[in-house]
Amino acid sequence: MIYGTTAKILRVDLTSSTIEVEELSEDFFRLYPGGKALAGYILLTEMTAGVDPLGPENVLVLASGLLTGAPVSTTPRYVVSARSPLTMGYGESEAAGFWGPELKMAGFEAIVIKGRAEKPVFLWIKDGEAEIRSAQHLWGRLAAEVQTTIRTELGDEKIRVLQIGPAGEKMVRYAGLTNDLRHFNGRNGMGAVMGSKNLRAVALRGSNRYQKLAYDADRLKRLGRKIAQAVPKTASSWSLQEHGTPVLVEPLSKAGILPTRNFRQGEFDGVDGIKIETYESQALIGRRSCYACAVSCKREVAIDGEPSEYGGPEYETIGAFGSDCGVGDLQSVLKANELCNAYVMDTISTGATIAFAMECFERGLISLEDTGGLELRFGNAEAMLTLVEQIARREGFGDLLAEGSLRAAQKIGGDALRYAIQVKGMELALHDPRGKYNVGLGYAVAEIGADHLVVPHDPSLADPESQTFKDARALGITEAAPSRSLSDVKVQHFYILEKLTSLEKVIGFCFFGPAPRSLILPEEVQEAINAATGWDLSIEEMLQIGERATNLARLFNQREGFSRQDDVLPERMYEPLENGALQGESMSRQEVEHALSVLYRMKGWDEDSGMPTSEKLAQLNLGWAADLVD
Ligand code: SF4
Repeated sequence: MIYGTTAKILRVDLTSSTIEVEELSEDFFRLYPGGKALAGYILLTEMTAGVDPLGPENVLVLASGLLTGAPVSTTPRYVVSARSPLTMGYGESEAAGFWGPELKMAGFEAIVIKGRAEKPVFLWIKDGEAEIRSAQHLWGRLAAEVQTTIRTELGDEKIRVLQIGPAGEKMVRYAGLTNDLRHFNGRNGMGAVMGSKNLRAVALRGSNRYQKLAYDADRLKRLGRKIAQAVPKTASSWSLQEHGTPVLVEPLSKAGILPTRNFRQGEFDGVDGIKIETYESQALIGRRSCYACAVSCKREVAIDGEPSEYGGPEYETIGAFGSDCGVGDLQSVLKANELCNAYVMDTISTGATIAFAMECFERGLISLEDTGGLELRFGNAEAMLTLVEQIARREGFGDLLAEGSLRAAQKIGGDALRYAIQVKGMELALHDPRGKYNVGLGYAVAEIGADHLVVPHDPSLADPESQTFKDARALGITEAAPSRSLSDVKVQHFYILEKLTSLEKVIGFCFFGPAPRSLILPEEVQEAINAATGWDLSIEEMLQIGERATNLARLFNQREGFSRQDDVLPERMYEPLENGALQGESMSRQEVEHALSVLYRMKGWDEDSGMPTSEKLAQLNLGWAADLVD
């Protein structure tokens, strides 16, 4: 037995309708122990360069993390990975909820899906057995109906359903996946990849508890209890339980970094309509959690007095459909969120692409004729909601926006590219790097495009007296640095923290788990891994697992022709903010370029190409990969 893992991968070829089970070796598990590392290895070794992301040759990997399903708060995550139809590079999206733990309970670490089914299908997996079933009766239906139908058909209300929606079927380039209707693999268009394979859902049921896999289940349980007890004593975790991520809206507006009207402004004049007090008085009807998590940050809402079948909007969604589209009406934001959840599309890219179109309309780059009569001005909530549906169905003007802001800008022409707020084709999340410089560095270098979950955000290491800074010392961080700095100290923060965040994506931790973002100390992450596996990893060795996973993703992009030239921030980040506490402030192109050079050197990447050197690959036991990218 290899502790901490089922050591099994389910392999499904939809073209030939064949299913196989692969056993993993202990040596392999040591290097690629789950999630991002496992997915990165498979994508790099089982695909060649240049495959069509929406063709049958693309490989879709659904992988739980090493700790996914352990009795430790914030560890239910799994990753969905493939070549991205949005960025054309390494694609990846994580989600929490219940599906990842259930995959392990059903007996598998990961599912690797190849080919394309002739007709719509879904996968049904129960305790080590798998079958491909027809999904023709599910095609075109909204997510809630599909989940109910699958559970009824299979006669079990506890089945965990991971699915795409109609947006994935239509291959909207930022379509996502959802599990339990409330947890989303939103980013990077993984839903479009699954849709291109005619695969609507993967339904699971398993009965093997994680504890049976663990080397020291009692130690893991004791650690889990200790962490759960720390939740009410940790300010950031308690705030997540009390108010969830929507609590960020007003403070970020006051700080001048709430992306507003397509990132032109940092303070939103309509913030009262979407701030936490409005959310809690108008919409909140309950709180929920993910598997075995004591943080319980998920929200339940009612829209126009009716309980929604889907979860309430997170901060990112409120920013995308609220301030970034200039909409200060919570009910409209709730509806946009529900539509995206029902059709299963990324709320960030959907809102940001509409905000981009609004700016193009106001600047005269597109007309009423282009939009089919929609007055696409900032603040027009009705037009925004119409467009969300049009995008999901690829109808009217929505068909162009379903391609994402970069491709839409290329089609619109003129200055439009300037207003597409994206990196590598993926739209920025709702955090303005002009107030958090390391978030900007993350947007620039992340292999998947403008991801906001690359490092804990800058304020956590700005104050040397803060608990968050003290918690980071065990990672090797010794000096604090302000949020609006790209000094070498700041780049070193990035270098260390990126390894930690990447590790989280390998082992299944949610971004709201480990310190310095949250409550679980580096020593506790280390203890959890060692208790699960029986290993004796040091913190440095643990971080190297994360570093290896990042380098695999980087190599994938190198093979697809990416280089330093793709690690660029949108032009807007070098333009001054128009209002708010940071009015007139922008990033400096020179500083960003300097920081990139410093970062590449720290990472052991070539300064000109931005790609891993052979020495770095050898150090990470990835020497074998050099031949694949030549
Ligand atoms: S912190 Fe929130 S999102 Fe993360 S696992 Fe817990 S409940 Fe889920």
